[in-house]
Amino acid sequence: MTEGRDGQWHEVVTRLQAEVETLRRDLTTLTETVKTLRSHYAATCSQCGTAYDLLANHYSVGLFDNVVYAKCPKCQKAVAIEGLREGGIRLVTEK
Ligand SMILES: [Zn+2]
Repeated sequence: MTEGRDGQWHEVVTRLQAEVETLRRDLTTLTETVKTLRSHYAATCSQCGTAYDLLANHYSVGLFDNVVYAKCPKCQKAVAIEGLREGGIRLVTEK
């Protein structure tokens, strides 16, 4: 009887170990996805060269004539941003 109970526990532990391994793989995939998504929101200031995240940094966004602006967190230079077809946003390149 004791052996049967041990067998059940062994089965439960094995199942949980497999579940943990699956979750670990899912977490790795999720981490990669977040990295890819964050790269869609990376920008570099054309005035001072500061690299910043358009989502994570506090910056002013104004809405004028359907154009959204982001401000460099270091030198405060405002630059228009545009949406990308593949997702994400970027600073509009000045002409
Ligand atoms: Zn700047």
